[in-house]
Amino acid sequence: MEFQGKSVLVTGAGKGIGRATAKLLAERGAQVVAVTRTKEDLDSLESEIDCRSIVVDLADAAATRKAAAAAVPVDYLVNCAGTTALDPFLDVTTETFDWIYAVNTRAPMIVAQEYARDRVNRGVPGAIVNVSSVSSFIGFADHAAYCASKGALDALTRVMANELGRHQIRVNAINPTVTLTPMATKAWSDPEKAARMLSRIPLGRFADPEDVAEVILYLLSDRSAMLNGLALPVDGGFMIN
Ligand code: NDP
Repeated sequence: MEFQGKSVLVTGAGKGIGRATAKLLAERGAQVVAVTRTKEDLDSLESEIDCRSIVVDLADAAATRKAAAAAVPVDYLVNCAGTTALDPFLDVTTETFDWIYAVNTRAPMIVAQEYARDRVNRGVPGAIVNVSSVSSFIGFADHAAYCASKGALDALTRVMANELGRHQIRVNAINPTVTLTPMATKAWSDPEKAARMLSRIPLGRFADPEDVAEVILYLLSDRSAMLNGLALPVDGGFMIN
């Protein structure tokens, strides 16, 4: 019950890694504020854990700021919501690029601003985890907008860690490999592509959402008190190959 008495805002809590994180946090005693786009996902989450729910499209900057302002104060923040589209570089449209950037990079910034302004104004410490991807380090074919958005999220994390660290708010990114969620089904359903990826992971398997959630909880907790500004692969060793 390590998070007893703590509140945590989790974006993308409807599915996949965000949902697993929300459930693990609740299991360890946290009060979760779950933010996502699809109301049915939040209804079903509410039937599994005690949480407060906010429905918002994080591609909409004004709506995102309003939702984040309504969600705070909370002790910790997990920016997990993310989206992807598969297009060869030559076919990426500006609309797709802007949309992916809005959800994967701009929304984490907006939500973190609202979270951190409240913490700084009240002079209390905190921790933020931004869910990035190994895609920020690797030029995966057909993932131009996604890779760019995650590379930018890592860079944003470092700036936040620098500026907010002075206020005792730690900010880290985690960079998972393929994790078995609805998003992975969309991006890695081609068996040949999946096999190539798998062959580079020494542990010989893709991640489960719970593997990633455990690392998120560690980075939120005081047990990682001296970790700040990381882009931490959660990848079974993929990055050493
Ligand atoms: P899922 O697609 O399984 O879940 C993503 C969640 O984010 C959903 O609840 C989704 O809601 C929500 N979300 C997406 N777009 C928006 C939006 N515009 N507004 C509000 N909520 C939104 O993805 P994963 O769990 O796989 O991914 C979670 C994070 O992990 C992402 O940031 C992803 O980039 C990252 N990641 C995932 C990997 C993987 O292999 N799965 C690997 C590396 C990183 P809805 O379904 O309603 O759109």
